[in-house]
Amino acid sequence: MTKEITLKLKNKFLNKYKKGYPLLWKEAISNVEVLKEEGTLLRLTDEYDRFLGKGYYGRQNKGYGWILTQNENESIDQKFFDNKISTAFNKRRSFFQDDETTAFRLFNGEGDGIGGLTIDNYDGYYVITWYSLGIFTFKDFILRSLQKVSTFRGIYQKKRFNTAGKYVEDDDFVTGERGEFPITVKENGVNVAVHLNEGPMTGIFLDQRNVRQAIRDQYAKGRRVLNTFSYTGAFSVFAALGGAENTTSVDLANRSLPKTREQFSVNNIDYEAHKIKVMDVFKYFNYAYKKGLTFDMVILDPPSFARSKKRTFSAAKDYKDLVKKAVQLTEDDGIIVASTNHSGFGMDKFKSFIKQAFKEAGKKYKLLEEHDLPKDFPSIEEYPEGNYLKVVFIKKFS
Ligand code: SAH
Repeated sequence: MTKEITLKLKNKFLNKYKKGYPLLWKEAISNVEVLKEEGTLLRLTDEYDRFLGKGYYGRQNKGYGWILTQNENESIDQKFFDNKISTAFNKRRSFFQDDETTAFRLFNGEGDGIGGLTIDNYDGYYVITWYSLGIFTFKDFILRSLQKVSTFRGIYQKKRFNTAGKYVEDDDFVTGERGEFPITVKENGVNVAVHLNEGPMTGIFLDQRNVRQAIRDQYAKGRRVLNTFSYTGAFSVFAALGGAENTTSVDLANRSLPKTREQFSVNNIDYEAHKIKVMDVFKYFNYAYKKGLTFDMVILDPPSFARSKKRTFSAAKDYKDLVKKAVQLTEDDGIIVASTNHSGFGMDKFKSFIKQAFKEAGKKYKLLEEHDLPKDFPSIEEYPEGNYLKVVFIKKFS
């Protein structure tokens, strides 16, 4: 952490920031040339030097830093980090007490008061994700706070420093005990194999916990399930445990085959009884259509953007067509689970894609339930973009 500098915000943006918008946009700054070292503390003012807030300079794909307080008397010091982190831990008390779920988010960026920082707990191993070099300069403060409020086994970190939010390749171990990976964590009683020192992803996306539970407990029984963009097959494993007749997992990445087998195996399920296809989902759709394959449940969880050899997929542009393809493969009275983590559109727009897809496919549907982020991923009203997850369960009719 270095000195504090004064950053002036343009008139046009004052209302937004006065209302508590936490992300500092480059376009909102009038003296951007004073920004030099990331991690610099910022005193934000209007053109007339009237105080607006305090924050830090850190460049992410989204912006130039985060506002941490609108209180002029609050300092950004050890006490500040201690407060934020202990408050976040207190909010998760019920998670710490639940033996059936040992992996959850401890600290969710601006939703817990510090944008650009997340901390996840994997059964006593913490994973800190730094979304800029700026927030990384506060590392010692944050580690000290963690040491004060909790006992952990070890800490790993993911650096997502460059402006595209891409992971920086590294040994991710920070302190404490090294884990022997995979470690097995639990989610609602289900085993999940997790690797904390193998690149940016750990094997499970914690924000889909409630969706996996709904699939297992309410929807999977007796159904033939197609899980597209399946990654490590987490949805397939939960479906299998919920009594699915069979599952087919489809993902382009070579790693998805061993990773999906691993998740079945740690739950004592014979992976040979399930299909795992390493292939482009769009190719699989064509193949399944030609072969006359159908399913009773189709899960769609594409990345917001993806580029494969043949095509680019953008959720904002292409989700409707994806649903339309899924409709073709889904039996009447079957379920489509449509999920997106694209922060660029909200639930209403997402539902409009679904409506349009069914209209074009000439089929009727009913929305059965919807999900956003779980309790351990809090967001704030002032920054609705932070509540990025949208999942709907849809029943298809003839
Ligand atoms: N549903 C998963 C997470 C999906 S992450 C879960 O719940 O754990 C997105 C995945 O999409 C990645 O594993 C990536 O390899 C895969 N992917 C991206 N483009 C693809 C394509 N065209 N066909 C198949 N898989 C694709």
